[in-house]
Amino acid sequence: ALSAPNYHEPQELLRDADIAMYRAKAGGKARYAVFDESMHAQAFGAMQLETSLHRAPERGELFLEYQPVYRLAGRVAIGVEALVRWRHPQRGLVSPAEFVPLAEDSGLIVTIDRWVLGEVTRQLAAWERDLPAGRAPLVSVNISARHFALGDVDDLVRGAVEAAGVPASRLRLEIGESALMGNPEAAAGPLARLREIGVRVQVDDFGTGYSSLKVLHTLPIDSLKIDRSFVRNIDGEAVNRQIVSTIVGLARSLGIDVVAEGIEREEELETLVALGCELGQGYLLGPPVAVGGGT
Ligand code: C2E
Ligand code: MG
Ligand code: MG
Repeated sequence: ALSAPNYHEPQELLRDADIAMYRAKAGGKARYAVFDESMHAQAFGAMQLETSLHRAPERGELFLEYQPVYRLAGRVAIGVEALVRWRHPQRGLVSPAEFVPLAEDSGLIVTIDRWVLGEVTRQLAAWERDLPAGRAPLVSVNISARHFALGDVDDLVRGAVEAAGVPASRLRLEIGESALMGNPEAAAGPLARLREIGVRVQVDDFGTGYSSLKVLHTLPIDSLKIDRSFVRNIDGEAVNRQIVSTIVGLARSLGIDVVAEGIEREEELETLVALGCELGQGYLLGPPVAVGGGT
């Protein structure tokens, strides 16, 4: 942060240097950033948003949408992914891509993930009650990497499942590749305890991190979700086809499922099927929707 006439106290300069430091850190390792006024506005905006996020759960501003997951051959819906939404009283809908990182920084993500698990298990109980036996969908729930690293997600899940009285086998957790591969020793315990009660685990955004084949073999994982960036234009881009084909082969050799996300066009779906990818989701098959007219 550079000295300027509008600074009156040393702390002001330090505060701005701090803001610039966070910006540099957010960009990756070994970087610098020079403070400018726009960072101030952004930091202030993020802080305001974070403050209102704290009250969002109790004020009933959060809700869930569910996106169907299909068996691609024959297009049979086999499950859904729960996606959290925040209706901000002034700003309207705020994307989780914007508020989940804020919630991770402040630790509020634990409250949000708990809220989501509570909602999902209540919804599952309603489906178990209202749908013919065995027809309730498998529900995927995203767990933030930062939250998973705390090591007690299995307690949270067990609590939610028991409170709602639903079979844990209807639940699947989606955990980012980096959360599992970053510290596989720490991930092993919670994963094993989840597996023990019957909860499935899927690696989200697979292909964007650095998975070790050895770790993939040892962790109790049920499926890989191919990141959207490899699905986009897969019909036209040879590199994407090669990557997806490799992931499908890997999943086969591990004896686990593979799910493609972000399928938007018929041609993408056909190419995925030709490559042996059996499961998928995306706007083409069905967008995320609220249950029971919540939106
Ligand atoms: P994700 O788990 O990879 O979720 C997939 C995202 O892709 C969702 O965005 C979904 O709405 C979007 N999507 C679905 N089909 C298509 C498609 O065909 N094309 C395109 N372009 N996008 C598609 P969303 O809902 O904005 O969520 C963004 C991310 O926020 C999620 O990525 C997940 O990491 C996080 N997130 C969402 N809900 C939760 C939650 O309840 N808890 C936690 N911890 N994170 C969540
Ligand atoms: Mg997901
Ligand atoms: Mg994803």
